Amino acid sequence: MGAIPALAIHGGAGTIPAAVLHGAGADAHHAALRAALAAGWAVLDQGGAAVDAVTAAVMALEDDALFNSGRGAVFSSAGTLEMDAAIMEGAARQAGAVAGICGPKNPILAARAVMEHSGTVLMAGVGAMEFCRAQGLEFMPVSYFSTQRRLDALNLELARRASGAPDTRSDADRHGTVGAVARDARGDLAAGTSTGGMTAKRPGRVGDTPVIGAGTFADNATCAVSTTGTGEVFIRYTAAAEIAARVRYAGQTLEAAAAGVVAELLLHGGDGGLIAIGPAGAPVLPFNSNGMYRGFCAGDGVFHTAIHREAYRS
Ligand code: ASP
Repeated sequence: MGAIPALAIHGGAGTIPAAVLHGAGADAHHAALRAALAAGWAVLDQGGAAVDAVTAAVMALEDDALFNSGRGAVFSSAGTLEMDAAIMEGAARQAGAVAGICGPKNPILAARAVMEHSGTVLMAGVGAMEFCRAQGLEFMPVSYFSTQRRLDALNLELARRASGAPDTRSDADRHGTVGAVARDARGDLAAGTSTGGMTAKRPGRVGDTPVIGAGTFADNATCAVSTTGTGEVFIRYTAAAEIAARVRYAGQTLEAAAAGVVAELLLHGGDGGLIAIGPAGAPVLPFNSNGMYRGFCAGDGVFHTAIHREAYRS
């Protein structure tokens, strides 16, 4: 005991433009973020584990079709739904991840089952699905995950590619992800991330989300990180592990390390952001994109949520 619990969540860098997302639409996103914070905070507030708080928060976001994960995930160019998810806890650095799956209602639970029961870290394909079934995870039909909004975004992008027109899509039509990081009263850190990936992605493409050290990472000595953005760049620059390395070896504060990495990713074509939390202090939530659906609770039970660069709603 002795640490101050804290929690941060994100609903991805694929935000609807500020000019379009206001009024009731913005309110709905804030409400969804608050609901996810409430789910995670309920665990921490009762003395629960960071990994359970992260699981609860990510599940709430996966269940909400506003975000690109679980229900409401984006489609590949072949019209398939291929979801990635990962979870990691920072005490023993246990991790689990799944790639390219469609079936388990909550991909984060599939990742957690991999972490706890598979003896491996990353599972994909038929074997992953068989493992999830054997674990007794709840499965849903494709129709549960499929939404008209994401079908429209796919069809728009396929038509654009066929016509050769330039890509002028909004971030919201392009991508998204959900994630959470937490610190519990024991000082244990955890991170979880879940995504449908990039709209009209190549079938079989796997993003940064399930790659430990890129899109998801947790180590009690340094930080827990969950990212969102152009996955290929986050993988090549090992975004999450790079933040931990700067904290560990360069003595940077978490805030400086996270901001520095987010700024550098943009130089390499990686737009997006991340949430991170360390052994002490408030979470940090930097992004280089137009917005990032995000929220945090620094330990006082007050929830703060924001979408673009406006002041947080508390
Ligand atoms: N990072 C995710 C991916 O590349 C997408 C996103 O976060 O928007 O699959």
